[in-house]
Amino acid sequence: APILSIRDIRKSYDNGFEALKGVSLDIAEGEILALLGPNGAGKTTLISAICGIARITGGTATVAGHDIARDWRAARTLIGLVPQEINLEPFEKVWNTVRFSRGLFGLPRNDAHVEKVLRQLSLWDKKDSKVTELSGGMKRRVLIAKALSHEPRVLFLDEPSAGVDVELRRDMWRVVGELRREGVTIILTTHYIEEAEAIADRVAVISKGRILLVEDKDSLMRRM
Ligand code: ADP
Ligand code: ADP
Repeated sequence: APILSIRDIRKSYDNGFEALKGVSLDIAEGEILALLGPNGAGKTTLISAICGIARITGGTATVAGHDIARDWRAARTLIGLVPQEINLEPFEKVWNTVRFSRGLFGLPRNDAHVEKVLRQLSLWDKKDSKVTELSGGMKRRVLIAKALSHEPRVLFLDEPSAGVDVELRRDMWRVVGELRREGVTIILTTHYIEEAEAIADRVAVISKGRILLVEDKDSLMRRM
């Protein structure tokens, strides 16, 4: 069974604008899927809907059999989300940011796991720094570490390359590769075809709230 199953998801915002017009997708465990589309296509809305942040107005999303609307807590615990905007507590230390995030999911303390993700993101020597003391790139690394704090089985990355330098981008791609080897399923949004090409197994092209095409990366690239 797919780890993520999305059926006919619709989302209308309060102003009546329908940002998702019936989206369906199945994602296999361990797969890396790129949601590729221009600005305004509905990528962030779709991720927010799947993660239970944006209330959907139709359809269903299930994570490992847990319906995101009816069984939010169980579903959300399986998901890590790296948002586009930096939403960190500025005066918290890096170490505590990751540790407390894990605690929010009701999980027992696991310093070994916190250390692992901080090292994985080259943040170990910053563990005692306050978030406010970090550069923008380091803050992005903390966002990823935070999303991995509770050992999610599915990781969402919303426009991971937006405003990121070459070194961090390369590092993120390395981390994505490591996570996939650990069996983590990854969904990222991007408007760069090069990024989809570099890391995805499958690409879903989204435009105006609809999925136009879902294809293996290799067969898509042969046609470009
Ligand atoms: P993407 O991530 O692909 O750039 P978004 O999901 O952010 O696209 O936005 C999809 C569409 O929904 C856009 O046309 C955007 O203007 C609209 N939209 C996003 N948020 C809201 C909102 N809170 N209210 C109304 N429309 C919104
Ligand atoms: P508290 O007393 O609030 O539980 P901690 O003992 O978790 O605080 O952390 C105090 C400081 O020690 C943190 O800022 C962190 O940098 C550091 N620290 C705690 N545990 C570890 C660890 N396993 N490895 C490295 N540093 C740690």
